[in-house]
Amino acid sequence: TNALEIENLVKTYGDGFEALKGINLNVAQGDFFALLGPNGAGKSTTLGIVCSLVNKTSGKVRVFGSDIDTHLSDAKLNLGVVPQEFNFNQFEKVFDIVTTQAGYYGIPLKKAAVSAEKYLRQLGLWDKRDSPARMLSGGMKRRLMIARALVHEPKLLILDEPTAGVDIELRRSMWTFLEEMNRRGTTIILTTHYLEEAEALCRNIAIIDHGEILKHTSKRDLLQQL
Ligand code: ADP
Ligand code: ADP
Repeated sequence: TNALEIENLVKTYGDGFEALKGINLNVAQGDFFALLGPNGAGKSTTLGIVCSLVNKTSGKVRVFGSDIDTHLSDAKLNLGVVPQEFNFNQFEKVFDIVTTQAGYYGIPLKKAAVSAEKYLRQLGLWDKRDSPARMLSGGMKRRLMIARALVHEPKLLILDEPTAGVDIELRRSMWTFLEEMNRRGTTIILTTHYLEEAEALCRNIAIIDHGEILKHTSKRDLLQQL
């Protein structure tokens, strides 16, 4: 089974705008995959549908073989998501934000605490565990989103423009962290409009524009054609 399979995915928004025109995409287990395209191409819409934050109009989506129409909770267990916007409660403490998320997956409190500590340490946030999220810098909030997405140890991590608005130093350390996660077996899919980011990190790339996949290729082949 692939980590992600998308077949003929169509999204027409309520105003009649066709944001996805029947896209197909396969991401193998263990891949580090970039969905690359300009603003407005349909990247967030695609990921939003995979994470069931956005309703699709038609098409099929499977996460590790689980169809999101019929086996959504199985799909969600395998999925960690880092959306673009900070969507945690700014007044909640950092540690609690991560353990609360674990609770949604039915992870017992003790285990949740161990996992939260592990990822907060790895992401350099352990010292901030008792701070309300609103006290964190933008880069720290970004890392908090990643810790929260990983607390249930998903097999697939999806990040929507993870380094948008992030300074170069943090971008590099996030890249290193993601490479290490991937090396240890987590499949990673990210969206980006930076070719350099896709180039630096990813093994396979799909280029999306105006709701259509233009190319689906290995990074090496893509770079040879540029
Ligand atoms: P859905 O079809 O998924 O229910 P809707 O078309 O109802 O989505 O829109 C969801 C929300 O996004 C609405 O509040 C709408 O105002 C807002 N929205 C509309 N146009 C855009 C746009 N171009 N970009 C982002 N959000 C938009
Ligand atoms: P990207 O992530 O590649 O920047 P999006 O998936 O956010 O692209 O948006 C794709 C297209 O769909 C854009 O033209 C955007 O304006 C439109 N769009 C996004 N959300 C909505 C919405 N809720 N309602 C109507 N149009 C939307």
